Amino acid sequence: MSAVPPPRPKVLMVSPMPEWDIAPMREAYDLIDLPADGPEGLGLVSEITALVTSGGRGADAALIEALPALELIAVYGVGYDKVDLAAAARCNVAVTNTPDVLTADVADMALALTLALARRIVDGDAFARSGAWRKESMPLTGSVSGRKIGIVGLGRIGEAIGRRFAGFDTEIGYWNRSPKPLSAWRALPTPSALAAWSDILVVAVAGGGDTVGLVDAATIAALGPDGLLVNISRGTTVDEAALIAALESGTIAGAGLDVFRNEPAIDPRFSRLGNVVLSPHQGSATVATRQAMGALVRANLAAHFAGEDLPTAVIRRLG
Ligand code: NAP
Repeated sequence: MSAVPPPRPKVLMVSPMPEWDIAPMREAYDLIDLPADGPEGLGLVSEITALVTSGGRGADAALIEALPALELIAVYGVGYDKVDLAAAARCNVAVTNTPDVLTADVADMALALTLALARRIVDGDAFARSGAWRKESMPLTGSVSGRKIGIVGLGRIGEAIGRRFAGFDTEIGYWNRSPKPLSAWRALPTPSALAAWSDILVVAVAGGGDTVGLVDAATIAALGPDGLLVNISRGTTVDEAALIAALESGTIAGAGLDVFRNEPAIDPRFSRLGNVVLSPHQGSATVATRQAMGALVRANLAAHFAGEDLPTAVIRRLG
C-alpha cells in the first residue's frame, strides 16, 4: 500500500503575482485567491498557514486574526508598512520581505525622475513630436550635475541613490533617523535643515505610521523656488496637500513622483501641473527585479515549510 502524501500547504494569495511565480508555487502549494469580500466565505480559513501579499496591500489585523492557523506573511516587496506587525507578533506569525534585490532598480528610478524633471525630458519628447520645434527652440532647462542632493533616509535604497548621484559630481547630504558614522556624506540634523541645504531633495525613507508627513510643509518650503523634490519611498512620507500647494504656487520648482497618497487613484490636481513628472509606482517594476523578488518570496515559503531559517525575516515566530 502506498503512503498517503502529506497535505499540501494552503497559501492565500492576497495580491496577484506573475505566472512565472504562480506556476512553481502551484506545484508545491494549494493557492487560494483572497475573495473581494474577505476570507470568511472561503470555508478553508482554518487551514491557511501562509499568505502572500504586496507591499501596497499588506495584511491588516482583521485579515491576520481571521486566519487562525496562519504562520507566515510573505511580502512581495521590501516595504512592510501595510502589514500590522503588532498583530502578526501577537498571533505568532512570521513576516518576510524582499530586500536588496530591488535596491538598484528603485535607485535608478530616483535618478531617472530627477533627470526627467530637471532636463524636462517628457516636455522635450512632446515638443519634438508635436512639430513645435520647427517654429522655436525649447526653453532652457536645469542642471543635475554639480548640484546639492539631499537624501531623506539613508537605508539600502538611499545609499544606492547617493552612490549614483556621486557619479554626477554632486555634493551629497542626508538626514537619517539613526547616525551613519561610516558615511562620507554630509549629515544634516533634520529633514528641514537638509531641504534648506539641498537643490534636489530625494525621499527614500521607509513608510509607516512614524514617517507620515515627515517631509512636511516647512520642509518643502525650505527647498526654495528653484528646488526639486523626488519621492520614491511611499506617498505617506510627504505631506501631499502641502506639496501640491507648493507646486501650484511656485514655492518649489517641481517634483518627480513614483509614489502617491491614494494610489492608483491619484489626486487629479497632479495631472494639471506642468512642473511634475509622474510615474505609476514603477520603482521595482522591471522583469529582472520582479523575478528576483518572486524567487525570494518562494524561498521564504519553502524555508518556512521545511522548518528552516527564513532568508529575509522581518519578524520570526517564537517557539
Ligand atoms: P531600509 O534599508 O530598511 O531603509 C529604511 C530607511 O528608512 C532607513 O533610512 C531607516 O532609518 C528609515 N526608517 C525606518 N523607519 C523609520 C522611522 N520610524 N523613522 C524614521 N526613519 C525610519 O529600506 P530600503 O530597502 O532602503 O527601502 C526604503 C523604502 O523604499 C521602503 O520602505 C519602501 O517604502 C520604499 N520602496 C519603494 C519602491 C518603489 O517602487 N517606489 C520599491 C521598494 C521600496 P534607520 O537607518 O535609522 O533604520
